[in-house]
Amino acid sequence: MSKEGIIISLEHLSKWFGDKRVLDDVSLTIKKGEFVTILGPSGCGKTTTLRIIAGFETPDDGNVYIGGSLMNRVQPHKRPVNTVFQRYALFPHLNVFDNIAFGLKLKGVSRSEIETRVMRVLKMVGMTDYEWRNVDSLSGGQQQRVAIARAIVNQPEVLLLDEPLSALDHKMRKDMQIELKQMHKQLGITFVYVTHDQEEALTLSDTVVVMNEGVVQQIGSPTDIYNEPVNCFVADFIGESNIFNGTMIADRKVSFMGHEFECVDEGFGENVPVDVVVRPEDIYIMARTDRGQFHGVVSSCIFKGVHYEIIVNTPDGYELMIQDYNPFEAGMEVSMIIKPSDIQVMRKERITNTLEGEMIDQTHVELLGCGFECLPQEGLAAGNKVRVEVDFDKVELTDDKRDGTCEGDITFILYKADHWHLTVRAENGENIYVDTQDVWEDRDIVGINIRPEDMRITRAEESAA
Ligand code: ATP
Repeated sequence: MSKEGIIISLEHLSKWFGDKRVLDDVSLTIKKGEFVTILGPSGCGKTTTLRIIAGFETPDDGNVYIGGSLMNRVQPHKRPVNTVFQRYALFPHLNVFDNIAFGLKLKGVSRSEIETRVMRVLKMVGMTDYEWRNVDSLSGGQQQRVAIARAIVNQPEVLLLDEPLSALDHKMRKDMQIELKQMHKQLGITFVYVTHDQEEALTLSDTVVVMNEGVVQQIGSPTDIYNEPVNCFVADFIGESNIFNGTMIADRKVSFMGHEFECVDEGFGENVPVDVVVRPEDIYIMARTDRGQFHGVVSSCIFKGVHYEIIVNTPDGYELMIQDYNPFEAGMEVSMIIKPSDIQVMRKERITNTLEGEMIDQTHVELLGCGFECLPQEGLAAGNKVRVEVDFDKVELTDDKRDGTCEGDITFILYKADHWHLTVRAENGENIYVDTQDVWEDRDIVGINIRPEDMRITRAEESAA
């Protein structure tokens, strides 16, 4: 399976911890010498993917190839990779030199060779003259440099880095990012880097792999990922975005915020619901003029160092974030223009909730692992499998989980210019999606209610046909 230039190939990886699937059909190929970053929110499966490459975890499904060889059963220390962890994991009782030399001594490398190699990597990480220092006397940044030196002294083909800069302060992080990039160039080896920091990912990488809930969302260069996000999750996670529900009216014509706009997208069909993303720097703002495509009133304007961040409310109830080099005072009437090429149109992943359920009796249905009341279902009996559709804005959430038919926690929040689109994970692990005007917070525990008249119930076999 060795393909020219490919060093790592992950094929259809799945991983379960108990009854929780943390990786779902993850496939990825990494080229020799590439700097690849796996990016995503906490808990999305980044570290698990890295640990599977390193051999510290075994996939339940799928294959890991490194350098063309199947690695699934190969012990971590026999793989041509080295890992730098979040916490430096240095030996506190050894000095810098001995920390770095440790692995080489175990391998029986000669004393003179060890000396040459340790000194060479110390130079590379900017720590010459520190070799006899106790590691406890070093700053966090210096300790992390020693950890990197210890990993690269083994001359691995691949360096795996798991949030290596997360314990450092902002300034040190920025400096280390530049150094890491230089080290990558100098060493010419493959770096696989894990972070939840999108700016870090965009700065460092040749290729970014965006993950969410165990699923790869998009793989591409930093500019591709930023300019052409494939879905709302990526658009929201990478940089700032205005995200709208829209309708593709016809080729190159899309409507959102109650206005029609020219765009560059084709092939969606006619009158198809879509998601629309416009970056804040791509909305042109000016004092109110008839030349604008739409109008609004500034509600706030904050200086962000280079640009101003301006929040504008439109008469139809939408709220936009705009970035501009000029300030626009709160209360000012303004007009806006968006160029066709700055409008990013994406297919919707779903337009309603479609849940698998089972009839409990004629007026109750089991959904999300709980018993919900429904309208009397003629022709359906207990035990019949059903499919239940519920529109996003018909799912009601309660503050107190005991007031809900079912309990859930909010795992993702997307602001869509005039409402919030929430992902709520029910107790049984299934997601339900909710449109609401109420403000919730990530990780809030909520009750979930659905009114009987808001469920569209069909026999599972019929709706599948
Ligand atoms: P973070 O940035 O918070 O480290 P991550 O994206 O790296 O997150 P993982 O560490 O891969 O995520 O974890 C994915 C999911 O698997 C999480 O829900 C986590 O709690 C769970 N998990 C990880 N390791 C184990 C384990 N050994 N046993 C049980 N659950 C685990």
